[in-house]
Amino acid sequence: MADGMVAGMANTVGQSTKLASSHASHAQPGKPVSPPVYRQSTLTFETVAELDAVKGSAFTYGRHGNPTTRQIERLLCDLEGAHGAMLTPSGLSAITTAISAVVRPGDHILVADSVYGPTREFCDRTLRRWGVDVTYYAPTIGSQIGTLMRSTTRLVVAESPGSLTFEMQDIPALAEAAHWHGALLMIDNTWGTPLHFASFAHGVDISVHSASKYIGGHADLCMGVILAAEPVYGEIRACYRELGLAVGADDAALALRGLRTLAPRLACHQRGAINIAAWLYGRPEVADVLYPALPTAAGHAIWRRDFTGACGLFGVLLRDAYDARTVASMVNRLSLFSLGYSWGGFESLVLPCDPRGTRTATTWAHEGALVRFHIGLENVDDLKADLDRALRTLNDKTTA
Ligand SMILES: *Cc1c(COP(=O)(O)O)cnc(C)c1O
Repeated sequence: MADGMVAGMANTVGQSTKLASSHASHAQPGKPVSPPVYRQSTLTFETVAELDAVKGSAFTYGRHGNPTTRQIERLLCDLEGAHGAMLTPSGLSAITTAISAVVRPGDHILVADSVYGPTREFCDRTLRRWGVDVTYYAPTIGSQIGTLMRSTTRLVVAESPGSLTFEMQDIPALAEAAHWHGALLMIDNTWGTPLHFASFAHGVDISVHSASKYIGGHADLCMGVILAAEPVYGEIRACYRELGLAVGADDAALALRGLRTLAPRLACHQRGAINIAAWLYGRPEVADVLYPALPTAAGHAIWRRDFTGACGLFGVLLRDAYDARTVASMVNRLSLFSLGYSWGGFESLVLPCDPRGTRTATTWAHEGALVRFHIGLENVDDLKADLDRALRTLNDKTTA
């Protein structure tokens, strides 16, 4: 069938046919720097032979991807050293799809106690309903994880640094123990990003990301990524297809746009965060700063050994003298830090957190408040002045 209107029928066809049969025209001499947004469910072909020729290789239907999603997948594989990539509608769906693809009823999996909260809910509810046994382990367990392995252990789930509490995990040690026992190692590498932690070179089999964070980078997009090593890629890709996962064309275009500037944005987030985290560490109101890039942080040696950079997210442990109301009023006073979940956009964020309720393998001992900060792209001195004004009120009995 000819592109556009059927030749010779222009004067005889009805208005509705003219509108519905006028397809997109693709030819133009110049090339746009950014690819067009491929809003496509149906793709049409001229002949049956043409359709048959592309089956299984090129795109035949919108759900199977488009040139933008393919380009993002290739870039991410290249950055992190993966064999293949899949884009999912959210970071959480990347995690749940990857786990679903590799476990069977009767399997056992080991999950870090510091894992992202919703990952834990999926393990406790859905996975257990499917007959998968879940054991949580201390995130700093290292090679001792071998003692928790069973003959049925299929997967070790790691996240380094951990959500909210920022424990660094010894990924090469976990990989060695997992592989020795015939299990796979998956990591949530959202904090590390594909730029700062080369997970596959450190023995990881599956790496997942929330692209809603730095890959999107502008707080206007929810997306996830599954990256896989060659031996497990086919199995995960098949499950991903069977589940019918896909991302929207507009979101894919935003993700590709975010990726272009990932490196300079991260450099700026890191510069600001190192400066502010070190300054906070010296403050009298602060008991500790949970930021692996700081030499004073517990996991600093592992971070230095394995990572090539840090992002803008860290935790601050306040001294235990301040109750929750006093901390809330301090947070309310910040004007350049918005209160909100998520992170990885250009804006600074703050969030009071309490990791105590979700742990089972370890106990979170610190009595004082934990406040999480994301350092955005604002001027560092302005952010410090804002923090200084707010932190001072912690000791101000009359306004607490
Ligand atoms: C935000 C986040 C997720 C979930 O990603 P969504 O895109 O919000 O679904 C998973 N893991 C970590 C470490 C995160 O910070």
